[in-house]
Amino acid sequence: MYKPANTDIIIIGGNAAGAAAAARAKRKAPKRNVFILEASPYFSTATCDIPYVVSEEIKSPRELLHFTPERFLLEKNVEVSVNTQVVGIDTKAKQVLYRSAQSTSEHAVGYSSLVLATGSVARDPYQLAGKYTNHFFLKSVEDLERLVHFTASIAGKNVIILGAGYIGLEAAEGFVKKGFSVTIIDQAALPLNNQDIEVSQKVAEILKLQTQIDVFFGVKTLKFFGNNAITKISADGRLLECDIVISALGVSPNTELAKSAGIKLGVTGAVKVSSKTETSVDKIYAAGDCCEITDAVTGQPVYRPLATTARAMGWVAGENAAGGREVFAPRITSSGFRLFSSFVAFTGVTEFQAKNRGLITQSVSAEVGRLVPFFAKRHETTFGRLVVEKNTHRLLGASFIGGKEVAGLTDMATLLIQQKLPVTVLKDMSFVYSPPLAPFTHLLSILSKKLF
Ligand SMILES: Cc1cc2nc3c(=O)[nH]c(=O)nc-3n(C[C@H](O)[C@H](O)[C@H](O)COP(=O)(O)OP(=O)(O)OC[C@H]3O[C@@H](n4cnc5c(N)ncnc54)[C@H](O)[C@@H]3O)c2cc1C
Repeated sequence: MYKPANTDIIIIGGNAAGAAAAARAKRKAPKRNVFILEASPYFSTATCDIPYVVSEEIKSPRELLHFTPERFLLEKNVEVSVNTQVVGIDTKAKQVLYRSAQSTSEHAVGYSSLVLATGSVARDPYQLAGKYTNHFFLKSVEDLERLVHFTASIAGKNVIILGAGYIGLEAAEGFVKKGFSVTIIDQAALPLNNQDIEVSQKVAEILKLQTQIDVFFGVKTLKFFGNNAITKISADGRLLECDIVISALGVSPNTELAKSAGIKLGVTGAVKVSSKTETSVDKIYAAGDCCEITDAVTGQPVYRPLATTARAMGWVAGENAAGGREVFAPRITSSGFRLFSSFVAFTGVTEFQAKNRGLITQSVSAEVGRLVPFFAKRHETTFGRLVVEKNTHRLLGASFIGGKEVAGLTDMATLLIQQKLPVTVLKDMSFVYSPPLAPFTHLLSILSKKLF
């Protein structure tokens, strides 16, 4: 059984945030002992790649393990104990209480600083967890292993996905690629409910025109039928047969441990931290999906769980837990995903979020050919939408749907938002043009000119 000795910096949770925090802490203070306590059997996993194991583009869940504890110890000199659940924090005695999977007894270990990186948990509003053999979340490698094992053993091919956020859509694509017949159900009227309507409409159009997926949006009542397995779902009275049900209904911050230790939560319900990732309790830092962050555009606390944020925040928390004074600045969040033959990416805030914060906005959108006609098919277009502050023309948010160019467009928009630049700078910019590489008139130039 695991028994850490001379413990100094303890990290609770060993995924994106925890692994980054530990590696940074050890680098900053090589003489201090750094330990990670991780509840699951796996440590440092490629969670974002889960949908691509569903599609079999990645062959096995095992390929999602970035590090084994042995390799982390060898390369980073940090000890990792998997199957070790932290069950309490005694903030006065500066001790954590943990239990390993092999034993029912609890053990205490002291810390001089602690990083809480407990991440998030899958939302389960219909309370399906653990009740049915054919119901799955797509949150962890363990979830994925269960799913892969189950799909290999059944003949049925009907999958119902609850939730049309980006993870539900990625999973849908994965199942279609494997030859399953896929139905998506969502309470909202459109997919990607947290995006502006025009973007959600475009995504709905892709689902309708480019896929065989059945979609049921605006569903108010769901009922589940079956004993050990869900055999049918009633969506507002319409009976749908299913062999597999996936809940992709978002995640909530995993704050049980923080709450029990008296650590303050913020308005979003996630752990509130200072700009140096300090929690409300002395010597306890926090990072990743268990935390809220400050949105750089609105200055508001927001809950936006992303691997990119978790890793960056974990780095700062690790540095500071080891004695540093690093700042985790208010953040512009950018994300994207593949949707069959298209890609979707966003950055900054939506128009709705900006207006909610009292900003007076203007938005503009355009859809253009990806390249000159000789090099791009008619349907190979790029859609872009910019949200700007009306008086200053400062860029607040942007969304793009098209080919892989959307990543570059989004990153460029992020830079503009970060530098608080007006979109006027795009109007006079010289963009790359070469027929097989980039269009003659750049989408960002078209969008900026439409604003004046
Ligand atoms: C299917 C899927 C696709 C995604 N795709 C993307 C993407 O393309 N881009 C992107 O930026 N983000 C993506 N994300 C989000 C990204 O995976 C998360 O933001 C990231 O994993 C957060 O890392 P974290 O370490 O904060 O939390 P988590 O990944 O939730 O890890 C927390 C860890 O803490 C452990 N833990 C919890 N409680 C305890 C305890 N009491 N004791 C010990 N250990 C504990 C858990 O077992 C877990 O391993 C995706 C997420 C999913 C589910």
